[in-house]
Amino acid sequence: MKPKLFIPGPTHVDQEILDALAQYPLGHRTGDYRELQSKVVAGIKDCLYTEQSVLVSTSSATGLMEAGVRNLSKKKVANFVCGAFSEKQAAITKVCGLDQDVFEVEWGQAITAEMVDDVLSNGDYDLVTVVFNETSTGVMNPLKEIAEVVNKYPEVLLMVDAVSGMMGVPIKIDEWGVDMALASVQKAWALPPGFAVTSLSDRALERSKSIPSAQKGFYFDFVRMHKAGEKSETPVTPSIPHLYGLSKQLDRIKAEGLDKRFARHKQMADRVRAWGKDRFGLYAQPGYESDTLTCFKNEAGIDLIELAAAMKSRNYLISGGYGALKGKTFRLAHMGDLQMDDINDVLKVLDEVIETL
Ligand SMILES: *Cc1c(COP(=O)(O)O)cnc(C)c1O
Repeated sequence: MKPKLFIPGPTHVDQEILDALAQYPLGHRTGDYRELQSKVVAGIKDCLYTEQSVLVSTSSATGLMEAGVRNLSKKKVANFVCGAFSEKQAAITKVCGLDQDVFEVEWGQAITAEMVDDVLSNGDYDLVTVVFNETSTGVMNPLKEIAEVVNKYPEVLLMVDAVSGMMGVPIKIDEWGVDMALASVQKAWALPPGFAVTSLSDRALERSKSIPSAQKGFYFDFVRMHKAGEKSETPVTPSIPHLYGLSKQLDRIKAEGLDKRFARHKQMADRVRAWGKDRFGLYAQPGYESDTLTCFKNEAGIDLIELAAAMKSRNYLISGGYGALKGKTFRLAHMGDLQMDDINDVLKVLDEVIETL
């Protein structure tokens, strides 16, 4: 038995999904394949409440984080940073040689709509990047409000790293006006890593058409990806196992019901927060706590590296803090295919283990 995953990615994968991934490949230029991709893309659109485009990408999410800035900005990017993953988005923008300004809040704090409004009213930006759920700090940014503000500026597109939020919390792409929301599948989609998906608004696609190939590159050119997608294909050979896995997962999501799935995440989050809030303290700014993972401070002063090791020896993987927060915080994921019974179980074992430290 491998340790059960309570880290914020990769997350626990059910056997049914693993079995689906193990199916014999299809030729990727056949009708059977096109039927598979077409079903998967339609299912993802339903989950994201969008009638605009959805692209599938054989890469981890970071590929799409790079693709987003390269396809969507020709003036200047405003990167909003509130932790390690949004910081990575700013670093990617820089490495790609794009014009940018970075706006950072203290880690643990949220990006507010007012802050975004202030920035956009002064600058000459054409793209905002923001993380929905900052996995390093356990902060969930107010995406709906941020989108509302960005939409006041017709020239500005909104690109969202929704990696650890998508499928745990609703993201209403069309209603809120989100131009791009990307995620890899090893978080709340609860598949093994190696694949990513993104929504893409019509105006984002138009923007990509106006950007020279030299900036966009080849593999992640949204126009090329979209054109193949219209035929329910991908420009190059995709990870067909992941499409099998997504197809199975979409059936399961439909059977559970989207509302029930999101309610389950909320209940698991409430349970985890109630368990440790007073004992450890929550790292996230009050009112912005994530519903897919919790980042605890260490007010009790326990050895968090030892805690994670002791949990692992009992076959549970938890995270002892990410990046600059390593050893200072610990995180528990409560997303994807984890159920309330799993959460009750891991919390009980945590209680036992903490007693022994
Ligand atoms: C996990 C994660 C990423 C990185 O995703 P990869 O699939 O490893 O590229 C980016 N952003 C957030 C918010 C994440 O949680």
